[in-house]
Amino acid sequence: MKRLALICMIAMTAYSCKSTQNQTHQQDPVTYAKSITSADLNDYLSVLASDEFEGRETGTPGQKKAAEFLSNFYSSLNIAGGDHTDDTPYLQEIPSEFYNDRFGDSENIIAIIEGEELPNEYVVISAHYDHLGMKDDEIYNGADDDGSGTVGVMEIAEAFKKAYRDGNKPKRSIIFLHFTGEEKGLLGSKYYTENPIYSLDNTVANLNIDMIGRRDDAHQNNGNYLYLIGSDRLSSELHQISEDANATYVNLDLDYKYNAEDDPNRFYFRSDHYNFAKFDIPVIFYFNGVHADYHKPTDTVEKIEYNLLEKRTKLVFYTAWELANRDERPIVDNPTLDK
Ligand SMILES: [Zn+2]
Repeated sequence: MKRLALICMIAMTAYSCKSTQNQTHQQDPVTYAKSITSADLNDYLSVLASDEFEGRETGTPGQKKAAEFLSNFYSSLNIAGGDHTDDTPYLQEIPSEFYNDRFGDSENIIAIIEGEELPNEYVVISAHYDHLGMKDDEIYNGADDDGSGTVGVMEIAEAFKKAYRDGNKPKRSIIFLHFTGEEKGLLGSKYYTENPIYSLDNTVANLNIDMIGRRDDAHQNNGNYLYLIGSDRLSSELHQISEDANATYVNLDLDYKYNAEDDPNRFYFRSDHYNFAKFDIPVIFYFNGVHADYHKPTDTVEKIEYNLLEKRTKLVFYTAWELANRDERPIVDNPTLDK
């Protein structure tokens, strides 16, 4: 009896060791979410939305400075550039002809962490880094629009890289995309999706952040919210993944008001995710709503609520973690295209 018990114990230990080993691949993402902090977000945004970057207007020196800042960030983390057509792998160059020469050449910024098991499937996490530039000597710093999303993507990239270094490599590849030309009419994302570096058919989802550092009038008394737009339009599974990530880890009040098909603001069509959605790639658009400083020179860093920015960034991270590591990509059960 004793001997049998001992054998059982050895067998059980071996079994539990094995199951622990299998789990390492998708180890608790909480460890890595902890590296997403208000302090880091504040540090990065204080540079990106400073006067030195002159409002980051597409094709101007300020936008180029922001591009260099982002490239240096990914390079310092040893996260690879995503465009290997030339010797500037972090830059996807967009020629001015694409804009009918209305502005100078400009650049999307692209970086990638390769997946271990399904490297040819991609989760795209995006935000636009351009803004309105300067008018009459006034600088439009765009701290919320979309400095907040830009630094959010940076922190998410850092968290995934930490996991990678610990051996928790994602199953799928994760692409970090910072679009230019958004304020000129979603042009950076239009260019990327018309000239994709990575297969759009194998792009399993796009999580796009545009303004997540402030609150709108409707939420003056409770900032613990976020508008989500588009999550259920193409894939009910994506919507469920997002809801589960929020309920398990973050507990924000997710507000779907602007997701209504008849919403007069039509936000679903108004940021970069739409250029993915039109190819039937499931998207989620993360948004805090508009406020008094929207598209004004007063959209500045000291008005950002960093605790909210941190929490909302974590929601995107947890959702991306699940998308990158689950066995199957989300099913598109409500396609709009005939394929
Ligand atoms: Zn924006």
